[in-house]
Amino acid sequence: MNASLVENYPGFPEGISGPELGEFMHRQATKYGLETLTTEVTGVRAENAYEVSTTEGNMQAKSIIIAAGSEYRKLDVAGEESLSGRGVSYCATCDGFFFRDREVAVVGGGDTAITDALELAQHCRKVYIIHRRDQLRATKALQEKAFSQAKIELVWNTVVHEIVGDRVLRSLRLRNVKTGQSSDLEVDGIFVAVGLKPNSQVFSQLVTLDEARFIVTDEMMRTPAPGIFAAGDVRHNSFRQVITAAGDGAAAAMSAFKYVKE
Ligand code: NAP
Repeated sequence: MNASLVENYPGFPEGISGPELGEFMHRQATKYGLETLTTEVTGVRAENAYEVSTTEGNMQAKSIIIAAGSEYRKLDVAGEESLSGRGVSYCATCDGFFFRDREVAVVGGGDTAITDALELAQHCRKVYIIHRRDQLRATKALQEKAFSQAKIELVWNTVVHEIVGDRVLRSLRLRNVKTGQSSDLEVDGIFVAVGLKPNSQVFSQLVTLDEARFIVTDEMMRTPAPGIFAAGDVRHNSFRQVITAAGDGAAAAMSAFKYVKE
């Protein structure tokens, strides 16, 4: 939903926006009988069948495919929540445009942080990458691009410990983790790219979670709970691409169908 352009989904040589691709998938499945209920799952209990509690009431299911995805991990520092949407963003593709000719910071050292910084460098005057270590986690090719982009400056061994502003973001209070020294960095925006948090909490009693709380499955998308499958970004070791999530979904659907039939 956050991708303005998906360029690596097969069948769309010119690329397609994320929301449009989702709408196409939904229309196609509806044509073959899919029924959709927009609601939040609050619990799942194993009875004879599974009982799924939602904010719209309870329902029974013989089999469940969990495709709850993940959400952006937060920094959990002062000012982050109150200035969210007023300078604090989690999506460079969605919000980068608002920072044209401004100075911004990206937090993180993974592929997302570096991709975001490169994208922001196209609109912004200056982009700082603030990373808590002295080495990036991102792939070599991305690192090299970032190092050769003159507008990008790396701030190593540093964490953000406060986001300062009143109605809008004014500056970041930083701390060097090696020296303990604090400093202020004046920027107009901060893009937090410190990874993802799986939406697995509500299923945690039924399935196995890895140390980062992603759901562990086998290659048939099975969890240890009979009839419960997982697919996409909520799953352990996912590549976090739309195409791999769609593949997971197809495998999970076939496994669920076989389970119910048997
Ligand atoms: P990630 O690989 O988990 O990287 C998260 C980064 O944030 C790490 O550098 C980590 O530091 C840092 N971090 C975590 N918590 C932090 C905190 N509280 N404060 C400061 N820094 C913190 O996450 P990601 O970059 O979002 O990537 C997720 C997955 O998507 C990866 O598998 C990635 O390859 C994939 N992806 C692929 C592409 C692509 O172009 N193909 C683009 C984006 C993402 P440390 O390094 O010290 O742990």
